Amino acid sequence: MAYRTPLEVRGWEYRIEHTGIGGVMDDLLEADETPCSLCARLRRGVLYRVADEVGATKIALGHHSDDFIETLLLNLFFAGSLKAMPARLVPDEAAQVVIRPLVFVNEAETRSYAESRDLPLVGCCCPVCGDLGLQRQRIKRLLAELDREHPGVKQSMLRALGNVVPRHLLDTRLDPGAELRPRALAEAVAP
Ligand code: SF4
Repeated sequence: MAYRTPLEVRGWEYRIEHTGIGGVMDDLLEADETPCSLCARLRRGVLYRVADEVGATKIALGHHSDDFIETLLLNLFFAGSLKAMPARLVPDEAAQVVIRPLVFVNEAETRSYAESRDLPLVGCCCPVCGDLGLQRQRIKRLLAELDREHPGVKQSMLRALGNVVPRHLLDTRLDPGAELRPRALAEAVAP
């Protein structure tokens, strides 16, 4: 009997899209450049194209809670920005809503569920994936160390994403009165 993939066994429709992203990146990237952000943009472009072709109204991405936390720290440490990823995004230029339904499921739970349901774990064959010199891998190690010392630290970070206090940050776009406040305070305590 011919081999059937776990998806075919379950009667789930799927489509594997082969792309030339690797070649495009080889042409565009400088030798010392990290490829991940260009790769992500190119892959996103392919996703939108395929979604248009199949008439999809939503694109569900598989980022889990560890991805959210790692992205938060990457932006904080290396990009000077306080943000993770949207769990739901309605892009201006695309017809599809992008959702990340695994935002509250961590990587270990995702893996364990896939194994328990006999779903295939697809390894990434990208030569860069797992490169210990990458900032994301460094962040992963940092979080693993922290979580060993303080179990629950990742849960706390995830909760923080939904518990922002805009006035305790320095972005005046979130608090239009903030620029005036130091002067008002100074006047209030002046002798
Ligand atoms: S690890 Fe490889 S596949 Fe993943 S984003 Fe980076 S370049 Fe792309």
